[in-house]
Amino acid sequence: QARYKGGNNFQFYHQKLATSPLERLQLEKSLRKAIVNHEFSVEFQPKLNLSSGIIDSVEALVRWRHPHKGLLDPQDFIPLAEETGLISAIGEQVLNKACMEASTWRDRGFGDISVSVNLSSHQIRRDDLYEVIQNALKTSQLPAEYLELELTESMLMEDINHAQDFLNQLRSLGVRLALDDFGTGYSSLSYLKRLPIDTLKIDQSFVAEIRPGEKSPIVEAIMAMADSLNLSVVAEGVETRQQLEYLESLACDYAQGFIISRALPASEILTLIRHSNLQMLNQSPESVH
Ligand code: C2E
Ligand code: MG
Ligand code: MG
Ligand code: MG
Repeated sequence: QARYKGGNNFQFYHQKLATSPLERLQLEKSLRKAIVNHEFSVEFQPKLNLSSGIIDSVEALVRWRHPHKGLLDPQDFIPLAEETGLISAIGEQVLNKACMEASTWRDRGFGDISVSVNLSSHQIRRDDLYEVIQNALKTSQLPAEYLELELTESMLMEDINHAQDFLNQLRSLGVRLALDDFGTGYSSLSYLKRLPIDTLKIDQSFVAEIRPGEKSPIVEAIMAMADSLNLSVVAEGVETRQQLEYLESLACDYAQGFIISRALPASEILTLIRHSNLQMLNQSPESVH
């Protein structure tokens, strides 16, 4: 599988970055160095508000600007970072950067753009996560309601009582909470009802299965569930116009995916948002259906 990395530079990933114990050790070592040297950058993928047609939120996605290997995706280093616990330090840098960026957008008059940040299970097991988030908000001056934290079902399943307390604590900061990759775990309705969450993100595998002219029983079941619990829904991995229109017809709140845009560096995401939102706002009422 070849991936275009910019310029004339193609890189090939035939095998995982770390296969042998030695390679894993080396990767761990360079991850530690990367944390010290702040080699992580954050890209932002827009979420389209389907009721307004406006992009009013983005998801922060980490990238590693590796000194020799180029720009690396999360799949290349997040698993080892989680195993070794280094994800907590990486996650803190991502959180800080994401809040800082979102805060400058507000200063520059882009208004109310929310940012969501992924948390890993390692991070939520740490006692200092509350302080880490509080600190990111304080340093960046980003109002808490513009930060959303994404967690997965499996992270919370292990201990529902603890999860409930813990999420309530986070929520008391004023941040929003989302369940990522929803549908891939085993959450029941009664379980979901106990969690103080705001948003369900339909996993992209279910969105990918939406075929032209057909209904998706899974997507519709998730929509019904969200409706009964009064949760907002984001569909992930939306790639085709048919998928987008189907989701719109189900009154899904947000769409995220390549049909709108890939994740972009901070400098480019603003241009995209401005362009897209101005175009939307300039449409005459007749052309808006
Ligand atoms: P996720 O949180 O579910 O993020 C969505 C992933 O789907 C992103 O991959 C995004 O680029 C990709 N995606 C978006 N739209 C489409 C589409 O239309 N089609 C397809 N095929 N893919 C799409 P990415 O950036 O490689 O991130 C992968 C995963 O890595 C994320 O899944 C998340 O679980 C994890 N991750 C990313 N950043 C962080 C982070 O800062 N901290 C932690 N703990 N995990 C992160
Ligand atoms: Mg996510
Ligand atoms: Mg997801
Ligand atoms: Mg995913």
